[in-house]
Amino acid sequence: MTPDEYLKASYTALQRSENHVGDDIKARLLLLLWRLRQSLLSSLPDTGISRELIIIPLLEAFALELQLYSDAFLAILLKQLEEVDETHSERAAAYAGLTLTRRDYRPRRGNELLSTTRSGGMTLLEKFTPDPLSTLSPYTTGHLTAIRSKIQAGIMRQDATIEIARSLVAERTTRGYIQPINARGTSYSALRNRDTALISNSVWEVSGYAERAVFERQKYLTSRPTLPPTPAPFGAKGWQWHAILDPKTCPICRPLDGLIRQNFNEFPYIPPVHPRCRCRLLPVQ
Ligand SMILES: [Zn+2]
Repeated sequence: MTPDEYLKASYTALQRSENHVGDDIKARLLLLLWRLRQSLLSSLPDTGISRELIIIPLLEAFALELQLYSDAFLAILLKQLEEVDETHSERAAAYAGLTLTRRDYRPRRGNELLSTTRSGGMTLLEKFTPDPLSTLSPYTTGHLTAIRSKIQAGIMRQDATIEIARSLVAERTTRGYIQPINARGTSYSALRNRDTALISNSVWEVSGYAERAVFERQKYLTSRPTLPPTPAPFGAKGWQWHAILDPKTCPICRPLDGLIRQNFNEFPYIPPVHPRCRCRLLPVQ
């Protein structure tokens, strides 16, 4: 298997995993914001100084629903990440020519996996653990803050309630039925992008971790002269940075493409460098 074939196979499988989580999550988020939209429409007057006060209990109730969403999101994400850790370590082992046993790599589960995976400067375990006082996870608080500022900006501008509601989720009328839709600039669209980036980052981070561990293991095993029969040394010439070069490749990753280092920790970064980073470190051929 050439590096390109391996990268292509990885890319396809990992993207499928991302879509899997995304599909499960999108409808829940849409429904959640649609319900908030409906409660704004039914209880927020179009004008008046009481508007600021009315949204407080409304957002408090919404925060609890958002926390349930956070829990559901985590359960779906974790299940997929466990699968990614397992299947990608096997894929990497096949590429490296290693017959994988539990001694070579033990796929991570549950909190072990969450505490070794980072996204946006914190581990997934930190991101999804509710604060004991507020009972909200940092993930929930992030989403809530975005929604609160959107509503407050609308109130400051003295927008009519329907305008504020539409800034959360847009709608379309089909045969007399009102349906929520994804429209740019809405809270739904912003939160959905944020979720997509988190899913993508986690999937690539988990698979990259498994891959590096498997590669290091094979490098170690094949570098020992006493082991019969001796396969060709794996990764003996070091590691090379592979960026997916297309117009979307970011300015950080593009110049790193082709970079060679003897060890993983000698690279300026370990991918993923940023959300949706597709870079990989493969052995020099
Ligand atoms: Zn990258």
